[in-house]
Amino acid sequence: MVVADALDRFFSDVDLGILPSIQDIEYIIGQREPEVDLALSRRAHSVRVHSLGEKIHLRAIIEFSNYCRQDCLYCGLRRSNRSAARYRMTPEEIVSAARQASKLYPFRTYVLQSGEDPAYPPEGLAEAIAAIKAELDAAVTLSTGEHPQEVLRMWRDSGADRFLLKFETSHCDLFALLKPTTTWAKRFGCIQNLKDLGYQVGSGIILGLPGQTDQSLVQDLKLMAEMGLDMASIGPFIPHPETPLGAFRHPDEAELVRKTMRLTAITRLLLPRAHIPATTALGVMGARNPSWQKGWPAKLAEEQGLRLNPDPRSISLVLGANVIMIDVTPPHFRVSYDIYPGKAGADGEVEEVVARALDLISSAGMEISEDRGDSPRFVERISGGAS
Ligand code: SAH
Repeated sequence: MVVADALDRFFSDVDLGILPSIQDIEYIIGQREPEVDLALSRRAHSVRVHSLGEKIHLRAIIEFSNYCRQDCLYCGLRRSNRSAARYRMTPEEIVSAARQASKLYPFRTYVLQSGEDPAYPPEGLAEAIAAIKAELDAAVTLSTGEHPQEVLRMWRDSGADRFLLKFETSHCDLFALLKPTTTWAKRFGCIQNLKDLGYQVGSGIILGLPGQTDQSLVQDLKLMAEMGLDMASIGPFIPHPETPLGAFRHPDEAELVRKTMRLTAITRLLLPRAHIPATTALGVMGARNPSWQKGWPAKLAEEQGLRLNPDPRSISLVLGANVIMIDVTPPHFRVSYDIYPGKAGADGEVEEVVARALDLISSAGMEISEDRGDSPRFVERISGGAS
């Protein structure tokens, strides 16, 4: 297959709103031609600007508990990690963290994330959600793992607007291996419940997991497109030393950074109106392997008039991504939210974290949206239009 033909077919399919063929998607994912990445990136950026505008959305994230009943092989919060220092913020501490953050920047979304903490009273989180919604002019997104429908309903009733629950991989055997304490059916059922309850739903994958193949990635992308997600996210896998996958090393981390960007661009083309973050994990992995810049990313930066930054998130924002997450968890808790190395602790005081993120955005020549950044599908749904 000639790569230019596959790309032409891919572009004309997405223009017509058709899901491109499995063969074409797989071929494009696996290719290493800089010109193809440039073409994908330009197209993804113009689709994003056309369907959502040029501005980017900031989401302030509060990591309120790192207790977890799951035992995922890739995650530093897994219950078998006895070396993790566990913490749990009270509902008052959550609200106070949001209030403090709002004084530094008028965030229009707060994301409340945690491990799957069996001892956190759902009513307590409901109180925190209601208080944030009453006090701050902002949306609330939850990212707390799998919960029964009654609990998800309680949180929705208390004002939660959105929910992030990544399916991580659609490869069922790999899922079973990596997430031994849950099942694919359970996680997917939970995503369906979230939709039924009227949440704006985000999902996505980890890229570069051992055992993942380009074939399974095509299935992941296809599933994301078919799910009609409101938000879609792709982050590179960063091994954590205190997990069974701690010794795993990517053969080429710079290429994994570039591949994350390639898949972000493809996702944008498959889901033109979804909100797509330039993920934190991408920022962490890129900063420790600046050689990702070589080749097409340097060229794209030049075309877009960007100063090359070791943080690949600025490039990601000109190839389809339109969201940045800013960690506003108080530092003494944040140091223990150790999902993967480089994530926790390194960021300093909340003031500095916010200032650095705003700097990244302005150095990329981008403006920040002042609206909540709801999913356009969702806005149409509630105003009675077509979805
Ligand atoms: N308990 C919640 C939130 C999990 S943390 C849940 O299960 O949904 C948020 C995301 O971090 C996960 O969905 C996963 O995609 C990502 N993650 C976890 N460990 C990681 C690692 N080692 N490298 C990269 N991303 C990781």
